[in-house]
Amino acid sequence: MTAGTSIPKKRRVNRIQRFCIHDGPGIRTTVFTQGCTLRCWWCHNPDTKPRAHANSRLWEIDTLLDQLSTDERYWKQSHGGITVSGGEPLMQIRPMLAFLEQCGKRGWHRTIETAGAVPLTSIQQASKFIDLWLWDIKATDAARFTQGTQGDSQQVLNNLRWLLEQNQSNVIIRMPLINGFNAQRAAWEAIAHDLKRMPRTVPLFILPGHECGTTPADCPTSPRVDPLITQQACDNFIAHGIDANITW
Ligand code: SF4
Repeated sequence: MTAGTSIPKKRRVNRIQRFCIHDGPGIRTTVFTQGCTLRCWWCHNPDTKPRAHANSRLWEIDTLLDQLSTDERYWKQSHGGITVSGGEPLMQIRPMLAFLEQCGKRGWHRTIETAGAVPLTSIQQASKFIDLWLWDIKATDAARFTQGTQGDSQQVLNNLRWLLEQNQSNVIIRMPLINGFNAQRAAWEAIAHDLKRMPRTVPLFILPGHECGTTPADCPTSPRVDPLITQQACDNFIAHGIDANITW
């Protein structure tokens, strides 16, 4: 943070989840921040979308750090750390930067799960304080992306391009596979086309069996993707020379 700048000391958090093993290396403690810039109809954390929610709590950054530090011994033994998820962790950027900076001063490994739908300046500022990026690519076709998320796919791609131009950035792409949205070849082809034009290639993990919404109305189609289709998606990316994997 810039010297002399007033640093926000609070960040709204939806919940803290301990002993996570799918949110980065080792054992992680995951902080789910409140508020999201997208409106995915299949959202598996719908209560994190609004800027505030009955479940959320405004944490003093110092208190949050103290709370997280109780898990430090598990991180050390497993080469884990903290993961910030959401919602969109980079939405309230200034308190997030202060938080990530303090985590770094404590020697904690910092992973962030982001959909990347934020101003480029937020990505640029956060890049100084993040050890591993788990970057969601849901679709790259502009119309498909907007229809599913109400967001701008070009913003996400431009941000990812900048990040991948930074050779030191450690990035993994993750693609939630959603029936009725991106579980078909046209969506995979569009994503492969755009990923191959990035400054460098990074691993892609497909996340099938995505849970979504809270009522059937939130999920007009089945959230479960057939394992065969999941494998076809993976094979499709591999055929394009992309290091694709499935997180079963
Ligand atoms: S980006 Fe994630 S948290 Fe935000 S609406 Fe989409 S699925 Fe939900």
